[in-house]
Amino acid sequence: MLQDQEVHAAEMERTFIAIKPDGVQRGLISEIITRFERKGFKLVGLKIMVPSKGFAQQHYHGAKERPFFNGLCNFLSSGPVVAMVWEGEGVIRYGRKLIGATDPQKSEPGTIRGDLAVVVGRNIIHGSDGAETAKDEISLWFKPEELVSYTSNAEKWIYGQN
Ligand code: GDP
Ligand code: MG
Repeated sequence: MLQDQEVHAAEMERTFIAIKPDGVQRGLISEIITRFERKGFKLVGLKIMVPSKGFAQQHYHGAKERPFFNGLCNFLSSGPVVAMVWEGEGVIRYGRKLIGATDPQKSEPGTIRGDLAVVVGRNIIHGSDGAETAKDEISLWFKPEELVSYTSNAEKWIYGQN
């Protein structure tokens, strides 16, 4: 039989979040990390890198037929990106809520894009849009040994325990 802690760990999901070059250049790294952290999500992977154009094309392969694909990949590979993996119950879906709509003009105030960005081509952050994408994006950006599994002391206060 699984112990409580193992059951809890098995329910945890992970998502891939990236602060794009505009977010990094505008000094918004800590602001964005704070929003995920204070919600109660757990950071399990973090690095800064300049992706190559080919890497950016792989990351955005789902958008390769879109007219903005080339510009988007040029932009993602134009400077440092902060790549992260966040863990928590419902983090894929709720992470997208924290981020807001793709077009910052349509993002609600209170969301990251709503509060901090103005146009769709410079919307500062990426977040996986579903379980499959999250799995693919995490394995594209991180080696398994770059991700850390740990129990945070705050978890019993965030999730409660019986
Ligand atoms: P996301 O999941 O909310 O990031 O949005 P998508 O997966 O649909 O698009 C990927 C990224 O392409 C977005 O975050 C934007 O940076 C960019 N993008 C999406 N739609 C447009 C558009 O109409 N014009 C431009 N220039 N960029 C776009
Ligand atoms: Mg997307």
